[in-house]
Amino acid sequence: MSQRVCTKRRGWLKAGAVGTAVALTGLRSWPALATVDRKSNGVRELAFYNQHTGENLKTSYWADGNYLPDALTDINHILRDYRTNDVLPMELPLLDLLYTLQGVLATPKPFQIISGYRSPKTNAMLAAHSGGVAKTSLHMQGRAVDIHIEGIPLDQLRRAAIALQVGGVGYYPASNFVHVDTGRVRAW
Ligand SMILES: [Zn+2]
Repeated sequence: MSQRVCTKRRGWLKAGAVGTAVALTGLRSWPALATVDRKSNGVRELAFYNQHTGENLKTSYWADGNYLPDALTDINHILRDYRTNDVLPMELPLLDLLYTLQGVLATPKPFQIISGYRSPKTNAMLAAHSGGVAKTSLHMQGRAVDIHIEGIPLDQLRRAAIALQVGGVGYYPASNFVHVDTGRVRAW
């Protein structure tokens, strides 16, 4: 599989072969990421709980400037389409966005995953049953997750995500989740 890699000068590129050395440099960076990094001893950690499967994951996915393939595999697995078990590599900036959020909120609690990757089949099914699901959702590209965090008010999570100015933030209080993605900076 390939990962989408962002370089400052050339925008989004398709980069091949993530399996071995993942010394991906030039990824999109933002001030809050740097701030959280300064407090983390050169390690980026993420914690997840998948509400649908009951799976937990706490892993360091980046250390000393390198993304760690085994950890990425685990993350891609827990964020898979739980309906079909299809796996897609999640975009690395999305993981950095989540890591930054966890750091800004200073919470040890995992992200509760409501929805991660959605296969085309699942997305089409959801779109047919709900007006709120886009036919070309960023969930289908591994660029979006729906989340909440126990103990963090949903509107606080929303405000923290909007403050990053990194991508899209959708607020779904009736369903108790915030959607974050690495698309255009926007909020709804
Ligand atoms: Zn979503």
